[in-house]
Amino acid sequence: MPAPRPSESAEAARAAAQQAEFNEKKWVWVPDDKDGYLAGWVNKEEGDFGEVIMAAGGDFRTVPLYALSKMNPPKFDRVEDIADLTFLNEASVVNNLRLRFGSGAIYTYSGLFLVAINPYQSLPLYSDAIVQQYRNKRRDENPPHIFAVAERAWVNMGEERENQSILITGESGAGKTESTKKVIQYLAAIATDVHPSHSRSPTIVSSATMPNTGLPRSDSFRRGHTVSPSMSSGGGSHLTARGRLGLLERQILQANPILEAFGNAQTQRNNNSSRFGKFVRITFAPDGSIAGANIDWYLLEKSRVIVRSEAERSFHVFYQLMAGGGALKENLLLGGGIEDYEYLNKSRREVDGVDDKEEWSALKGALDTVGLTPAEQSDLFRIVAAILHIGNIAITSTRADDAVMPDPSQAERVCHLLGIPVAEFTRAVLRPRTLAGREWVSQARTKQQALEELGALCKMLYEKSFGALVDKINLALDRPSSKSTFIGVLDIAGFEIFEINAYEQLLINYTNEKLQQFFNHHMFVLEQEEYAREGIKWEYVNFGLDLQPTIDLIEASGSIIGILSCLDEECIMPRATDLTFTNKLHGMWAAGQENGVRHPGCDKYEPTRFDQGFIIQHYAARVEYRTDGWLEKNKDPLNDNLTRVLAASSDRYVASLFAEYADAPPTPAGPGGAGNMFTAGKKRAMKKGAFRTVAQRHKEQLSSLMTQLQATQPHFVRCIVPNSNKKPGRVDIPLVLDQLRCNGVLEGIRIARLGYPNRLPFVEFRQRYEVLTPGIIPRGYMDGREACRRMVKTLELDEAIFKIGTSKIFFKAGVLAELEERRDMLL
Ligand code: ADP
Ligand code: MG
Repeated sequence: MPAPRPSESAEAARAAAQQAEFNEKKWVWVPDDKDGYLAGWVNKEEGDFGEVIMAAGGDFRTVPLYALSKMNPPKFDRVEDIADLTFLNEASVVNNLRLRFGSGAIYTYSGLFLVAINPYQSLPLYSDAIVQQYRNKRRDENPPHIFAVAERAWVNMGEERENQSILITGESGAGKTESTKKVIQYLAAIATDVHPSHSRSPTIVSSATMPNTGLPRSDSFRRGHTVSPSMSSGGGSHLTARGRLGLLERQILQANPILEAFGNAQTQRNNNSSRFGKFVRITFAPDGSIAGANIDWYLLEKSRVIVRSEAERSFHVFYQLMAGGGALKENLLLGGGIEDYEYLNKSRREVDGVDDKEEWSALKGALDTVGLTPAEQSDLFRIVAAILHIGNIAITSTRADDAVMPDPSQAERVCHLLGIPVAEFTRAVLRPRTLAGREWVSQARTKQQALEELGALCKMLYEKSFGALVDKINLALDRPSSKSTFIGVLDIAGFEIFEINAYEQLLINYTNEKLQQFFNHHMFVLEQEEYAREGIKWEYVNFGLDLQPTIDLIEASGSIIGILSCLDEECIMPRATDLTFTNKLHGMWAAGQENGVRHPGCDKYEPTRFDQGFIIQHYAARVEYRTDGWLEKNKDPLNDNLTRVLAASSDRYVASLFAEYADAPPTPAGPGGAGNMFTAGKKRAMKKGAFRTVAQRHKEQLSSLMTQLQATQPHFVRCIVPNSNKKPGRVDIPLVLDQLRCNGVLEGIRIARLGYPNRLPFVEFRQRYEVLTPGIIPRGYMDGREACRRMVKTLELDEAIFKIGTSKIFFKAGVLAELEERRDMLL
């Protein structure tokens, strides 16, 4: 609860009047389809129903009592931390966010979360002066802000020598990537402040070259952090101006436009939508200066290079190259414009307010800054161009339905760029050879199969090149040192619940289920610690485990298998289809129901009756998945004829992208025609690392991420998109509520309510409520704990609704509202 700040007496009088007015009626929030919740007061109650008079309009509504939520007294309006509300219900949470957003406060705390609502307009919140305002300040000394989160991570890292993580999630367009940039901006600025004169060459940065202060590490860090002369010099904004950043800091900042060019695209929800998740770790030397950075990436939406909805674009880099490429385009044989390329001309070509030519220059500049050589840059663009050319390869079919390439010149362009022989490429696409028993046979492809093969090739080329690009950036930025610590920022899509949910949604929702479990467990530990510190006996159930059944349902492997392992198994079965996979899942579920061999999470699963799919009960919602195309998506297949041709490319970059396929053994002809790498997987020992399913790769990546996160002190940011029109100032309450439900904010509140969510230091409690117990506490000194004890006794509070710790008194939700009301009646 915010400490009552000294206020003008007029203000105090107004507050008292408001409270008095509030007390006259029984104020409630009434659920409303359009507005989420509307204010009203209960006129009378009859049985289980209440007759409510609506505040706006004065009309009557009869509402079941359970649907009504109590309103917080006016004193709680616009609180900076939602956890301070005395009535912790959905309506009050969303009302507080709405009130604050309406007055320009886009950031609000909710216990362990920072909630950030996308303002869709540029606000003066991120200047160097604001950076300075948050330096060396505790959370409660400033309004809520993303900088405060970054500051706290930085301070904790310095003081406790512990790695930190900042987990940012939200829907597409909610502001995750912008928030990530602000965190990095803040860290780069303050780390530069540690050594304002630094403009180091990154190659010589290592902890060994750091000035040895002779102090223990944490001391030297803290010294740099808190008493650096640059910090105490007041108007130090010039110190963080861009120009003062060292090369490494600039390289780290410039990595982002590169990632965005290759990994972001215009979508209906966001003109600059990240089509991949990332975990960016900034490492710091013991003195607090930046020592390097490293990027991990997840789930790139590579299918976008070949298809997307008409209103959307492919990845930015395609349009940037076409708009700004100049002479380079000639080298890449890109004679035409966007309209000439099949992979670009079927959907939107421009983004409002964005000049692709300027973006191209920015991209080139960023690549130079990060330090990619001209040759390395040309590698990247060669792949981009090759993809456009592949998209233009025409395939027709003979009367026997065999695929043919009528015009070889297009394939020649592709092969020129990829450094591969055109005859081999053509054969691999049209008539791949497979081993049938001991015989090599050529199997003709249909037109459809050949086109799919080309599409799969483009997706793989793009993803592999993206991976290689991130590796290069990491090589330029990463300088691991045993003494360094890091702050990792996770920018990853939140729960996705669409009309039709596919394999991609399962993977992202599975990820979020794990991240929420991580949050729940963390909150559990912190709450336990707080109660233990205060000497309060209170056994929580470990709600971190609540989500485990759903997680097991998805990821279990071994004797009892989960959905993903089941999919993997089905991928190597002859004649398996999406339907056989779905039926197998249903069968497992039915077996679990019948014979008591309980599959973990069996009761979180339900078959869908009519469609090919199933339903999972996630913590956020019940989500229905459709299983069309899952086998193919999971195998991510490319025929091994093609991969071997590419692995043998005369172009070193192309060959390196496919190195894992070099010398792969030939594939026997499988049931579905030409085999792919995957069907071979079971029959032969394969080169390590190659041929993993998408599910296997994602599980591994996610488990590595979770291991890293578990070794950090986490901080949680939840971004919210306020409306679906990218408009400033508009809040669609049902939309916001939906997000609060999915992103764990309401879950966090539910957990808080299990305990004693409102807590006040003894002094504060006494100051504010002593008026209710006149004469109970003698004049002069009295132990705070004893004073509280006497007060609650006199107030006749039920033992169950409060706990007295060693420095604070804890209350169940709603108790403070009652005390406020009593207090007001006296004043
Ligand atoms: P996400 O990564 O969650 O999909 P972005 O971070 O790309 O969303 O944000 C989408 C758009 O919203 C941005 O391009 C920007 O126009 C706007 N936006 C997001 N956060 C802010 C902010 N803090 N201030 C101003 N505009 C913002
Ligand atoms: Mg993004």
